[in-house]
Amino acid sequence: SAKKQGGGSFSFFSEELRRELDHRKQLEHDIRIAISEKEFQVYFQPQVSLSNGSISGIEALVRWTHAERGAIAPGEFIPVAEKCGLMPEIGRIVIAKAIHEAADWNRDGIAFGRLAVNVSGSELREPDFDAFLFDTLQKAGLPPEKLSLEIVESVILDDEKTGIAAKLRHIRAAGVHLELDDFGTGYASLSHVNPNEIDRLKIDRRFVQKINENGDNTKIVRAITELARGLGISIVAEGAETEAELNSLMALGCDQVQGYSIAFPMPQEKAREWLVARAPRKAKLTVLRGSLA
Ligand code: C2E
Ligand code: MG
Ligand code: MG
Ligand code: MG
Repeated sequence: SAKKQGGGSFSFFSEELRRELDHRKQLEHDIRIAISEKEFQVYFQPQVSLSNGSISGIEALVRWTHAERGAIAPGEFIPVAEKCGLMPEIGRIVIAKAIHEAADWNRDGIAFGRLAVNVSGSELREPDFDAFLFDTLQKAGLPPEKLSLEIVESVILDDEKTGIAAKLRHIRAAGVHLELDDFGTGYASLSHVNPNEIDRLKIDRRFVQKINENGDNTKIVRAITELARGLGISIVAEGAETEAELNSLMALGCDQVQGYSIAFPMPQEKAREWLVARAPRKAKLTVLRGSLA
């Protein structure tokens, strides 16, 4: 421990810790302001089918532009928001915005497959999460079948005590799809995948990147893909950055892909343009007519 290492390192450690705590306190304060000032935005990143290039889905990702610091990555502020109990609130802002945008696409005949939103354990543990979700879908006019929840494995494992499993079954029974995010990085792994409870696996990007150069990654992705095919669950690979990675994923029989090689996460107007440009002709005409009316 720090004490054992002598006084010098102890005070060094305290200094580091104090700075870390100050930073976290400042960030927590700024997150509260960001919520009230409506600084949280939603970006969208498309997912496409590797067999025919059609759009299979689009993931909503939270974005925060801090008034002074500029863009702050989710990887920096989400852990702090989780620690101070603010993630459920941020999550609802994102989910509501994303669902309303997807409902607009749906009404305008713009194909987007399914909207995927990330949901953390703290969000799911809110007693009225399911009611909030159904209410939001209904108000926006988005059919539940057009929505998918991305959940990490550990949240599923944590279930029986917290009642999350029952809540997820209830949500899925209404038509909402469920998928395991960052698959392969948690503890649940292959033995916990139940095709009666899960619709899709998202292979974590650490196995996808450099797949063409890394034999272990190839083996892992092949094993996951074969398991999924056997169970009748679909697979999306996240974080494919290069043409070579796309080719390897295709050769391994992966169904869908998401990553910079297809599109970066985009603000909503850009995402709409991207979807329209990719959509079948019929949808484009509908949108054109809509804008002329
Ligand atoms: P995730 O759900 O696994 O999302 C995928 C992450 O990979 C996103 O990072 C995305 O921008 C990034 N990504 C996509 N394609 C590529 C690629 O080709 N290369 C690389 N290097 N990265 C790629 P992002 O947006 O920074 O989000 C990080 C994580 O924060 C997400 O990981 C998710 O766990 C969490 N998150 C983001 N938005 C939300 C939200 O609204 N609610 C909740 N609960 N969590 C969120
Ligand atoms: Mg995700
Ligand atoms: Mg992921
Ligand atoms: Mg991730």
